[in-house]
Amino acid sequence: MSIRIHPIKAFNDNYIWTLINEGNKQAIVIDPGQAEPVITYLEDNELELTSIWTTHHHYDHVGGVAELQEAYPMTHLVAHGEHTVDEDQTIKDGSTVSAWGCAAQVWDVSGHTASHMAYILDIDGQKHCFCGDTLFSAGCGRVFTGTIEQLHDSFERLNRLPAETLLYPAHEYTASNLRFGLTIEPANEVMQQTLAQAEAQTAQGVPTLPVTLAHERAVNVFLRTQEPTVIAGVKSQVAIDDDKPLTVFAALRELKDNF
Ligand SMILES: [Zn+2]
Repeated sequence: MSIRIHPIKAFNDNYIWTLINEGNKQAIVIDPGQAEPVITYLEDNELELTSIWTTHHHYDHVGGVAELQEAYPMTHLVAHGEHTVDEDQTIKDGSTVSAWGCAAQVWDVSGHTASHMAYILDIDGQKHCFCGDTLFSAGCGRVFTGTIEQLHDSFERLNRLPAETLLYPAHEYTASNLRFGLTIEPANEVMQQTLAQAEAQTAQGVPTLPVTLAHERAVNVFLRTQEPTVIAGVKSQVAIDDDKPLTVFAALRELKDNF
């Protein structure tokens, strides 16, 4: 099975990840916050939209759903019951969704919101994780209607995926996240190199995504809460009660909120 994965840009920095089956010219979009760039892309490439998957209810992820359903009435909408859309298939943790015979496991990775789903698609043994606003390259989502404990659990869970898993966050925040990360770990050379690369890519409008989990383990301070350099970096900016991963994670999230 050959599935191509393409980011359609929306708003300022959203990516609507699109799964494309070149064999039958069908497409699946994930988190279409806007309909217009999706319709333009599908028409330019003579693709038919067959399915929409959503990760959470925020407007920049579901805002284009109704218009796309109208434009493509046969579209199969996959969403959690709290995603404020009229879904055809209600999903929750443990559900399975199909993309032309390839299975995607649904994981609850809440924290950013209370019902945030991730889709982990297996294509010929390679895992592709569409993680919405839970994990960004070198960063993590803000806590809105979920809790910091949930977000931390979600990070621990994502971190148990195979190292070669490809992660597809829904925003281009890489450079800004790395600038924050370097305030915590100024001597992290992989982060320094990745920032230079991300700034060059962003200046040219080239996505920095997807990224492998192995890469994130090297550059994402929110996955590095047990590293002595990260603990020391947090303590240089704020007093914390203990060195437990959740404590460090919560302090990082608060520091990032004010960055
Ligand atoms: Zn969001």
